[in-house]
Amino acid sequence: MYLCPEPKTLELKGGYYRFEAGTQPAVKTKITPLLAQKESYRIIIDENGVGIEAADEAGIYYGKLTLKQLLMNYRGCLPYLYIYDEPEYYYRGFMIDSCRHFFTVDEIKKMVNAAALFKFNKFHFHLSDDQGFRVEIDSYPKLTTIGSVRPSSDFGRGENDKTPYAFYYTKQELKEIVEYCRERYIEVIPEFDIPGHTSAVLASYPELSCTGESIEPKTTAGVFTDILCGGNPETLKMIYAVIDEMCEIFPGKYFHIGGDEAPKNRWNVCTKCQNKIKELGLKNAEELHGWLVNEVAFHLKKKGKKTICWNEAVRAGNVDHDNVTVAWWLDSTKASLDWANSGNPVIVESFTPYYADYPYGMHSLKSVYLYNPRKIKGMTSLGASSVVGIESPVWTEYIRDFATLGKMCFPRWLAVADTAWNGNDNKNYAKFLKDVVFFCEILREYGITAASEKEWNILPHGKLSQTVGFFRNSLTKDFVKQLLKKDEK
Ligand SMILES: [Zn+2]
Repeated sequence: MYLCPEPKTLELKGGYYRFEAGTQPAVKTKITPLLAQKESYRIIIDENGVGIEAADEAGIYYGKLTLKQLLMNYRGCLPYLYIYDEPEYYYRGFMIDSCRHFFTVDEIKKMVNAAALFKFNKFHFHLSDDQGFRVEIDSYPKLTTIGSVRPSSDFGRGENDKTPYAFYYTKQELKEIVEYCRERYIEVIPEFDIPGHTSAVLASYPELSCTGESIEPKTTAGVFTDILCGGNPETLKMIYAVIDEMCEIFPGKYFHIGGDEAPKNRWNVCTKCQNKIKELGLKNAEELHGWLVNEVAFHLKKKGKKTICWNEAVRAGNVDHDNVTVAWWLDSTKASLDWANSGNPVIVESFTPYYADYPYGMHSLKSVYLYNPRKIKGMTSLGASSVVGIESPVWTEYIRDFATLGKMCFPRWLAVADTAWNGNDNKNYAKFLKDVVFFCEILREYGITAASEKEWNILPHGKLSQTVGFFRNSLTKDFVKQLLKKDEK
């Protein structure tokens, strides 16, 4: 029987409950205080039909999802069985970047619908970056009239296509996505990335940078030195205004404020930033970054929200533990380890192997399936227990169309989903591979063509050529040399 994620407990009882093929079996549902854990459920199928009991409405929903998968396995009958199931992590996330390349509302819905089948419950929507700002904001209209338009795209093709790239979501469209997700018990977590990755914001409002010089939204991938000025009070005013409007669209509990890859070159020499550092009695620009995170997290807290930021944001060590969750992608610095090892919440989104925009030759299906998010080097047992969830991001510098997006995410997101719900104690890769073959066929009905089986686990000799092919001309010679070295090992 093909299921993904695998339920925690499944006992076959022998025999079949039969009903007319093409019809739905009768299902009795009940919320019971006997099940304590949120989202947990049990399914009993016997001669009386199908019964689903759960701790809460979400549990009923997940029980019905498992039943939906069971019905994909059988026609006109279901085996007598008992399932008890509960999630390993309450945060089971996937992230889509619509800044580098834009995906339409219908395309986003297709991805959400597919992810929902595997019990994901958090959709982190990356909506602002150097290459485009993608949300309609009334109080700062230039964010879309200017910030959503880049003059061309040059993401490693070796040639600049000279075609303006102009997309954003209206508030109504985003609300439609939020509602579509809500129906599937998925919370949409918007990301407004600050203070770095803000070239599109600064193109719109150059007075918010340290230099005030005019720039354009970026046409290439990378990390850029122009970031929001940390010493200008207008910066926080703009951030709060944008957040306030975004919170009206996204009613969920979490708000993501980025915080990654914010070089301090400008802040180190900017009079406004340096004066602010002195005024606040801070040591340096990194601490100013920590202060900014605290201010924004406090603003969000007043609105009843929890803040998520990438782990560079806690690098200075002065971020308030209250109300902030760290999205752990790369930074195994002492500050990040201290954060987790002091029991502060962490969502594991490790670059290796959870970044779904990298080729299967680098992040194979098997490596994603077997990765244990509670076994990060340097994490204590308290650190491991502070992992509240996992997430797989897909960045889209090199993903230009929906077909490629689907292939990069699926079937790897099945592996992520299994860990997110089922944990690492019951892994069975041989069984999982059979489930994947089954669900890749189902995914076609969802409008998604997954990567073909031969790509899932590229043999070492194929890794380099696949990786180089994927990035085309964007690789530097040094990076290729590094890969060659790795491949030789
Ligand atoms: Zn400044």
